Amino acid sequence: MKVVLQNLTKIFPSRNKKSGEEVVAVNDFTFEIPDGKLIGLLGPSGCGKSTTLYMISGLQKPTAGRLFFGDDDVTELPTEARGVGLVFQNYALYPHMTVKQNILFPLQNLKGADKMTKAEMMERAYQAAKLVQIDNLMERKPSELSGGQQQRVAIARALVKMPRVLLLDEPLSNLDARLRLQTREEIRRIQRETGITTIFVTHDQEEAMSISDMIVVMKLGVLQQIGAPQEVYDDPHNLFVAKFLGTPPINVFEGSVQSGKLIIGDETVLDVPGVADQDVYIGIRPEGFVPEENGALSCQLNSVEVMGRDSSVVSTHSASLNPLVRAIIDSDIKIDLASETVRFSLKPHKVFIFNKETEERIYFEVK
Ligand code: ATP
Repeated sequence: MKVVLQNLTKIFPSRNKKSGEEVVAVNDFTFEIPDGKLIGLLGPSGCGKSTTLYMISGLQKPTAGRLFFGDDDVTELPTEARGVGLVFQNYALYPHMTVKQNILFPLQNLKGADKMTKAEMMERAYQAAKLVQIDNLMERKPSELSGGQQQRVAIARALVKMPRVLLLDEPLSNLDARLRLQTREEIRRIQRETGITTIFVTHDQEEAMSISDMIVVMKLGVLQQIGAPQEVYDDPHNLFVAKFLGTPPINVFEGSVQSGKLIIGDETVLDVPGVADQDVYIGIRPEGFVPEENGALSCQLNSVEVMGRDSSVVSTHSASLNPLVRAIIDSDIKIDLASETVRFSLKPHKVFIFNKETEERIYFEVK
């Protein structure tokens, strides 16, 4: 099921009558989520991710704009009539019911033409349980399950009605690191197997990048960029997006463009033909540095951390906005630790420059 947001806006009235300031939680979102894809809504706390998800679910009514599932305008439809499955951060299972009863519950409330026989309901419940691999735990109570298992029950309960769209709000944040990793792979598998259009909210960029077909990056209620994770990583449209994606994060320097040359400190680090003279921010991905004796950029060497295949070269630079400059290089390349400075050449396609006022990307021709 394709989901289309058309100028979707949510404004919350001010809680404080005196200041009268309203909160624009979601500002004029227009984008299309293709059928059968897994989409990550991504951004820092308060950027409007949950509000967007709640508007898609029908739990919150938009202030303006329209919402479509396929060609159906669902803007005014109540949640029950939208055919959405919802999974929240706290699994909200009924503690007094067994796993089976929890999964069956949404089916028992179906009315009219949707009403099912007991046998049909049981078959559906077992199908959903098998999909999330908890069909051997059906007689247990939620308190007898691990966090990961509880989350699977919640997903099975959301899937049992065969929703048109599956919505997950920070579904992994209550799990420990290992379980998070495992469960996110599970979500990916379940999504692939069912083909249900799935929208999932997270503030964890690595999580979103690893399982999404498409990510939607947001900041303070404003859409920043949409695209396949790698596409957005390789081609960020502004400084915020460049900084938000990637571990270790992008290295940001202050610098300038003078006569088609990119300058950091007093060093010319790259040719940027066609860019007007101006002060800029320069983002360099950690994998964009190549240690070379005659490299254009010199940094003060701190340490080298070898991490198996890669090494992290940690240094400082007076024009860097990050306290430490981190370069990720092949660990076969040896760095002279006795040296005070390390010189790098830069891979041009890993270097992004941004307007200093608007923080929008300035493009240059990469040769
Ligand atoms: P988090 O990651 O912290 O959950 P989020 O990106 O999901 O954040 P939202 O919960 O969508 O953000 O909130 C977006 C903005 O709207 C925030 O500034 C929040 O304070 C505000 N907001 C959310 N719900 C309400 C409400 N019911 N009344 C007033 N303001 C609200």
